[in-house]
Amino acid sequence: MKRIGVLTSGGDAPGMNACLRAVVRRALYDGLEVMGIRRGYAGLIQGEFFPMTMRSVSNIIQRGGTILETARSQEFTTQEGRKMAALKLGEANVEGLIVIGGDGSFRGAHSLFMEWYIPVIGVPATIDNDIYGSDYTIGYDTAVNTALESIDRIRDTAAAHERIFLVEVMGRKAGFIALEVGIGGGAEEIIIPEVKTDLKAICARLKEGKKRGKTSAIVVVAEGDEAGGAFQIAEKIKASIGLDFRVVVLGHIQRGGKPSARDRVLASRLGAAAVRAINQGEKDKMVGVVNGKLVLTPLTDSWEKKKKLDKELYDLASILAK
Ligand code: ADP
Repeated sequence: MKRIGVLTSGGDAPGMNACLRAVVRRALYDGLEVMGIRRGYAGLIQGEFFPMTMRSVSNIIQRGGTILETARSQEFTTQEGRKMAALKLGEANVEGLIVIGGDGSFRGAHSLFMEWYIPVIGVPATIDNDIYGSDYTIGYDTAVNTALESIDRIRDTAAAHERIFLVEVMGRKAGFIALEVGIGGGAEEIIIPEVKTDLKAICARLKEGKKRGKTSAIVVVAEGDEAGGAFQIAEKIKASIGLDFRVVVLGHIQRGGKPSARDRVLASRLGAAAVRAINQGEKDKMVGVVNGKLVLTPLTDSWEKKKKLDKELYDLASILAK
């Protein structure tokens, strides 16, 4: 292999730049040429390629977002769109593609491989951490820390006014962010999609806590819980039990910002591992870290298999919230 391409796709995550830096520098170190592709699959179809050098990735390891930019492309979900993408890669003599993104991006990469036999390697980057094949995804640690900072501030106000706060964090259909934010922020309750929500029991425990002398409470809610978003849950509780909640939806502030040390290190390891894998002839795989070790997983497993939430950690949260 002489030349590879790299793109960032789907939702942005802190650490994508650190990963890109590792891809470029490891590839050049190994004697490969690297083409950067702007705006994810949209840019791939448009042929927005440019050669990358050691200096193209100077001074970006600490920056959030992605210097390649990211996009969502409807066209790439069609065979016609992927044919155009394969054509552009061929014209630019790009022999392999590294895709930094989430499971949607991996589905697209897998189709490109199946239809055009272009070697693709995925690098998991999403704040949600909901990808099988890696214990952690790039951006998750930063998002947890960002949300935690907000929780600490909210706790000050909750304590000062003796209030109950319902704080909604991101996570799509997964409770990974909510669970760690809940544990780290000392939340009284954690509401996640993986565990059936019993609002009555939650309220009973909150009232119980008040009797035991708790003057404030924080309830962390994962977006995508079956009981609804934070506002809906607050409404339901108010209507049935009469407890009044203040609601905070953290939203997109969790997505950007400087990547944490953990995310920079993870991104650097995974970026370099992706280059090594593609250079060794691996294809249609995702790089990940499991139990501290670098591993490759078939791309299809990354979305077909479900990463399990740590139930022990969830149970611990309720013990510590007493
Ligand atoms: P993420 O990678 O963060 O999960 P998306 O789900 O938005 O983000 O996916 C990013 C892009 O990947 C989409 O805009 C689309 O071009 C492509 N993609 C997503 N799902 C598929 C699919 N099932 N088949 C082909 N391409 C897909």
